[in-house]
This record gives sequence, structure tokens and C-alpha cells, in this order.
Amino acid sequence: TELIAGIRADALAALTARERARFAAGRPRSRELAEAARAVLLDGVPMHWMLDWGTPFPLFLEAARGAGFTDVDGHHYADFCLGDTGAMFGHSPEPVAAAIRARADRGLTAMLPTADAIAVGRLLQEAFGLPYWQVATTASDANRFALRVARAVTGRPRILVFNGCYHGAVDETFVRLRDGRAVHRPGLLGQAADLTTLARVVEFNDLDALEAALRDGDVAAVITEPALTNIGIVLPEPGFHAGLRALTRRYGTLLLIDETHTISTGYGGYTRTHGLEPDLFVLGKPIAGGLPAAVWGCSAEVATRLRAVRASVDGGHSGMGTTLSANAFTLAAMRANLEAVMTPAAYARMLPLATRLADGIAGVIRARGLPWFITRLGARAEFGFLPTPPRNGTEAAHASIHALEHALHLYLLNRGVLITPFHNMTLVCPDTRSEDVERLVATLGTCLDELLAGGG
Ligand code: PMP
Repeated sequence: TELIAGIRADALAALTARERARFAAGRPRSRELAEAARAVLLDGVPMHWMLDWGTPFPLFLEAARGAGFTDVDGHHYADFCLGDTGAMFGHSPEPVAAAIRARADRGLTAMLPTADAIAVGRLLQEAFGLPYWQVATTASDANRFALRVARAVTGRPRILVFNGCYHGAVDETFVRLRDGRAVHRPGLLGQAADLTTLARVVEFNDLDALEAALRDGDVAAVITEPALTNIGIVLPEPGFHAGLRALTRRYGTLLLIDETHTISTGYGGYTRTHGLEPDLFVLGKPIAGGLPAAVWGCSAEVATRLRAVRASVDGGHSGMGTTLSANAFTLAAMRANLEAVMTPAAYARMLPLATRLADGIAGVIRARGLPWFITRLGARAEFGFLPTPPRNGTEAAHASIHALEHALHLYLLNRGVLITPFHNMTLVCPDTRSEDVERLVATLGTCLDELLAGGG
């Protein structure tokens, strides 16, 4: 029988079948809701990616708090997915919940700023170093707006992304590198414009390719995460960020750092921890404790250039907007989150526990002699199915094996542990307990033992 990353294919199939049956048998209420949903929601979910968990039918949430949640059948789970970073500081953190309660009957949205906006701006300056800030509703939007600013101030058409990137629903970033050329990401729906005329794509950690792509002087911005996290984790090699900054400066290209996931690194994200100097900066997901919100920031120089461009056009519509952005409700939550949740003290709790988690998983893998790696970026850890960590997006794509991920995730889920569905990502929040970490590590160990023993 075939071996899949050290696991027999027949054992994998047997374990998957058994775990699918176990999931279904234990969750009659979720099954009932899933059936009712199919009559009114397209494919039975309010957002189509909710089908990507690979469960026989969607798991319906009842309530979540801190590091855990309960499903509608009464099962409790330790949550290491944490809303794929939206709840990175725990579900319904008390200061945010209190701010929401306090604001709830004092007006939610009015197209007017509140005093909270100033507090938010100061807290963002303090955490990330950039002087000027704007608020959007999703990280996708914030990236879109920041890229528009980059094009406006440079007068250049193109952007550059690294292969394997994800920055949200931002058209120009939906490109991949294939045989040295930019192509559309597979699976795109309704894509009318040819995105390869707007974007260049090179491998992460490849400064020569980056320089070749910037040399023509038509790239407005490089948009990147400090480390790739959406194709598994790909860490920057020593000198990569210094080179990226030097080359972007040399060729007049702005650097847009998207911290939406790498905010796991430490207080102030990877940017503050490693002293990056972005021209534009984006953070979404956990910025308002789980409410839809995002921010983008810019340097004083970009602000000056942007004002000059705006002064030169004759009013009109900027192409940036969304009516409910920066509303009173969201700003209250964001202020509470920045003041009392996303703090150095929170990271001081998260980081040691994440280290234990990564060490624990490394031990489980090593003890069984599997050719797998684990990488950690602060509170975020990810294991993958290659003997050594990938250095770029192409290598990282080979570290992911859907059938194997599916089996592991389902086994964990059936035993009260949730990890991120799309790869093998775990996040630790300030409320995560060491028992939760031990449970994850031990359960992964028994899963692998069963797979190695035959899986039936
Ligand atoms: N940037 C990064 C780095 C992300 O990982 C994501 C989402 N996974 C986004 C932006 C987009 O966030 P949203 O879906 O909330 O717009």
C-alpha cells in the first residue's frame, strides 16, 4: 500500500471513515440544523467556506468564551483555531464585551467620529510606530485601500506579491507563480480582468527575483506578510527583510506589511518585534476583539504625498469607502481591545504556552519518526508534511496533504480539540490552559499511533 507522508493510505482511509461516522453519530442537533439550513442558505451555510472543515455536515456553534466553545449538541471543545485569528485573544474578551454592552444602546453607526477614534489612533501609534491611521471593516478592505493609496502616490500600476500569499478578497493578489510566470489562482470565480497585467509574483526569500521584478520601476507596492502564514508558515530567512526594505527603497516601491496573522509574533506584531519599517501597514481580524474591523496605517511621507495627490484632483470619489466602517460601536470595541486585551501582558501568557505546544507536537512527531516539521511564530504554530520547513510558497504547497489533514482534524474534533481547517495551524490565546495544550498534544499522539497501527 502507498505511503502518504509516512502514513499508510489504507490506514488513513479506514481511520477517516470511522471518524466521519463518529462525528455524525454524536451530533444529531448539528445534523438537524444543517438539514434545515439547506432549505434557505446556498449549500446550507451562510458563507461557503464554512463547508471547508471537511466534516460530514457543519458543526453548529452554541457559545464560545475564552479558549473554548460549546456546540449545539453540548460537546465542549478546546479551541486552537480561534476564528482563524479573529479571536486570537480569546472569545468575547471581557473588556470588549463590556465596551459593547456600554455602547449597545447609545448609537451604533452615524457617519460621525467618536472620541474613541482618537484613543484608538494613539494606541495604534504606540503599538506599531506609524503616525497616521484609518479604519476599515475587513482586512481585505484595508489592503485594498492601502494598495489604492500606493498606486495613487507613486503613479505606478502594478503591485508585487509573493507566491503563496493571501491578503483577503483583493483581486490583484490572486496570482500564483507557475513555471516562472504569473497565472491566476486556480478556482477564481467570475474573474474578468487579467490580473497578471496588474501584479508580479516572485518566491518569498528570493531577493534576486524581487530585484528583477522591481527594476522596471512600475511596481507601486510590495504587499506581504512578514512571514507567509496562509500556505502554512514560511519564515523569512536572515537578511530577507533588510533586503526587501533596501530594494523597495532603491526602486521607489512602497512596502505594505500585512500583520493580520503575524500579530501572533508578539506585542506590536512582527513589525515592532523585528523593527520593520513599512510605508503602509494593515491589521484586521482580532483588532476589535472579533467584531468586523481592520485598520491601515501610513508613514508621514506617504501621508504627505497622499494629501498632495488629493489636492491635485478635483473632489469626487476616492474609491475607498464602506459606510459602516469606523462606526461608534466598532471603535468602542477596538479601543477596549487595544487598551485592555491585546497587551504585552497577554502575550506574556500566550508565548510560553505556544512554545510548549510546539515542543510537544515536535516530540510527538519525532517519537514516531515521521518526516514532518513544525514551525512557530509567537502564539501560532503549524506542522506540515515535509522533513524540513519550506523556504517559499512552492515548497510550502507540498507540505500540505488534504486527506491527511482531514483525518487528523476530524480525530481531534471528535475528542474535543479544534484546529484551523485549511492546514495544521494552532493558535494559543491568553485563556488557553496548559491542560488544553496537553490534551492537543496527547490526542495527536494517539491519533498517529492508531494511524501507524492500521487505522481501523
Ligand atoms: N490578510 C491576511 C494575512 C489574512 O490571513 C487574511 C485572512 N485570512 C486577510 C488579510 C483577510 O482578512 P478578512 O478575510 O478578514 O478580510
